[in-house]
This record gives sequence, C-alpha cells and structure tokens, in this order.
Amino acid sequence: MDQEQLKDLIRDVPDFPKPGISYKDITTLLKDPVALKAATHFMLKPFAATGVECVVGIESRGFILATPMAIELGCGFAPVRKPGKLPAQTLKLEYDLEYGSDVVEIHADAIEPGQKVLVVDDVLATGGTMAAACQLLEQLEADIVGISVLAELSFLRGRDRLPALRLESAIVY
Ligand code: AMP
Repeated sequence: MDQEQLKDLIRDVPDFPKPGISYKDITTLLKDPVALKAATHFMLKPFAATGVECVVGIESRGFILATPMAIELGCGFAPVRKPGKLPAQTLKLEYDLEYGSDVVEIHADAIEPGQKVLVVDDVLATGGTMAAACQLLEQLEADIVGISVLAELSFLRGRDRLPALRLESAIVY
C-alpha cells in the first residue's frame, strides 16, 4: 500500500467540529489492517536509524500511532496530554489558538535529559500543539530527533512553527 492509497482511506468530514473546518477522520484508515500497518511503517521509516529511545505521542490520536511505532522500535512511549489528565508532577505549557488558548502537559519524569525522542501526532494543522509539545520536551532537555505525523495540512503552514526540527509527514494535503 502506498501513500496515495493511505490518503484515499482518510475521510474528510465537513464542518466538524465547527463550521468551515474540514476534519481529517483517520478512523476509516485505522480499521483497515493493511493500512494501519503501512501508516506506522511510513511514519517510522525516516527515523529508523536515528537511535530513538522514546516515542512521544500527543493526545489523543497521536497515542494510537505512537504506541505501535514504539513497539516496532523496541523503545518506550510517553504521553503529552490535555490539562488535568496526568496524575503525577507535570510541566505544562499554555499556547495560543485562533480564538483563546489551550494547554499541554507532560510528566516531569517522562524523559531523561539527553534522551532521544520522536514526537508523533496524526495531523499537523497550524502546528501550535506540536510546537508546544516540543517546547515541553526542550524544557526536559530531551534530544528531539524529529517529528512524525501521518498527515500534514501544508496550507496551514504548521511546519513554519517548527523550523529547527526535522518534520516528516506520510501524507501531505
Ligand atoms: P494544530 O492546529 O496543529 O495545533 O492542531 C491541533 C490538534 O488538532 C492536532 O493534534 C490535530 O491532530 C488536530 N487537528 C487540527 N486540525 C485538524 C483537522 N482538520 N482534522 C483532524 N484533526 C485536526
């Protein structure tokens, strides 16, 4: 299965979660066993030889893709979550949205200083969430070897918010 076939399995849901947003629904891809394997394969391949020690997934669809990637790499998984979900001591970061703001959190002991991490999410849109997650990881002195997303909405220029990091996307819109 190639990237174009994967793209065909992602469903566009118009006006979700609000009018004007075309939502990339990956559940139609995830339920296909061949596509699920191919998607994680494409996301992992560019980073296979980078010595990743931990795959960091962003809540919540990032978790679905990050965990099989961590198993495949033989390394661990760490979650970046929405506020109030992680039980132990956390670092948190507030970031701006188009209207209002949001917060991401990570456990203070999720990553050791210098640990090589790969950051994973399903969709890169404006890049605000990913940039905030990477800032948290930098506060923990993680060595971010790269960012891997299943789909990049390139017209939203999320990549421009992450200029210093290697960003790979399996599918580009
Ligand atoms: P961002 O604008 O890059 O900070 O996106 C915020 C989060 O919302 C990311 O974790 C994406 O997975 C998700 N997201 C944003 N836009 C879309 C979209 N059009 N379809 C599906 N998920 C989206």
